[in-house]
Amino acid sequence: MINKVPFCKVVCDGNELKYITEVIESGWLTTASKTATFEKLFADYVDATYACAVNSCTAALHLGLEALGVKRGDKVFVPSLTFTASAEVIRYMGADPVFLDICYDTKVITADILDAAINEHPDVKHLILVHYGGYPAPLLDDESEGIIGICKRNEIKILEDAAHAFPTKIGEKYIGSIGDITCFSFYANKTITSGEGGMLTTNDSEIFNRVKTMRLHGINRDVWDRFTSDKPSWEYDVVAPGFKYNMPDLTAAIGLAQLERAEEYRKSRQESAEYYFRHLSSVDAIDLPVVNIPNENHAWHLFAIVLNDKSMISRNLFIEKLSEKGIGTSVHYKPVHLMTYYKQKYGGVSDLSNTEKVWKGTVSLPLFPFMKEEELAYVCDVIKDILV
Ligand SMILES: *Cc1c(COP(=O)(O)O)cnc(C)c1O
Repeated sequence: MINKVPFCKVVCDGNELKYITEVIESGWLTTASKTATFEKLFADYVDATYACAVNSCTAALHLGLEALGVKRGDKVFVPSLTFTASAEVIRYMGADPVFLDICYDTKVITADILDAAINEHPDVKHLILVHYGGYPAPLLDDESEGIIGICKRNEIKILEDAAHAFPTKIGEKYIGSIGDITCFSFYANKTITSGEGGMLTTNDSEIFNRVKTMRLHGINRDVWDRFTSDKPSWEYDVVAPGFKYNMPDLTAAIGLAQLERAEEYRKSRQESAEYYFRHLSSVDAIDLPVVNIPNENHAWHLFAIVLNDKSMISRNLFIEKLSEKGIGTSVHYKPVHLMTYYKQKYGGVSDLSNTEKVWKGTVSLPLFPFMKEEELAYVCDVIKDILV
């Protein structure tokens, strides 16, 4: 009998060791051919023209804002229901976040929310868009104008935070091939991992060249190019005070192996999510995530439920009771605008009613590849025991 289910489990049973061994035997441990291969295969996967591997998604977001030309004193739209990294990169640039609410059902920004925010803040020219939990924010929309259309009309540039959204699709297109710049995370608990790591994709050659340069000290040639090209390897120029954000080959080796399994992992998480829907839809005290897209298009990074007004116990007590039964959970997220730093600096933001409603009741249930049916059944049974 199962009596313990972790929140998350890293599956690493593919070619990880084989590729790591190849890197060690090659003698090139930092950025070289494995990273180049990872970039190429990742770009092919999402059908982006360019991919640039970095050492975190936070680094990718920072490089993305830099390439989009965000300047000191600018304001940048960002949802508050996100990990703090989405907002901190705005501060890296000396710019200020303007926090947006989300749709209660889907936990992402909608066209209506963005339209209202633009009316209120016509001076904002950049948007960080988060695909919460692997559910795509409506960049494109068949029925009406999607977020891309609104942004084009208002000359707003979009930086997508797709830390949860690999692989996620809108229609037939993968997130990573649609907007100006998309940033992915390979942190240990994300949909695929390289331990730590990130990837930036774009279809714009100017953005790509800037990001590639700024990724490594503002040097106009990377080390691998210096090693392989016929120009003397010592000769390089510095065109800007860049950053140290490159991905080492040892890391890329793990990422490559994980990339090969990405769809298998995604599909397995989808099946677990479908199990939760089947077995929890009868529980009145829970609002399940609303999915207005085919389940196949969702990365299913998170399965976040919200305890609503019908729940007799608080979210925190609910988590405690699950924990007593050996079930791991998490909370995504305490809104960024309620964190001490942001509250003190930008305090008084109070019209994020859906965000605060989600925050009050949200709990992310265990979700990882190859969850056993017994594990899912145990989680659902315990939840019903607590709430029904
Ligand atoms: C994890 C995460 C990040 C940061 O990813 P790192 O690779 O750890 O830098 C950014 N945004 C969101 C929404 C995340 O969940």
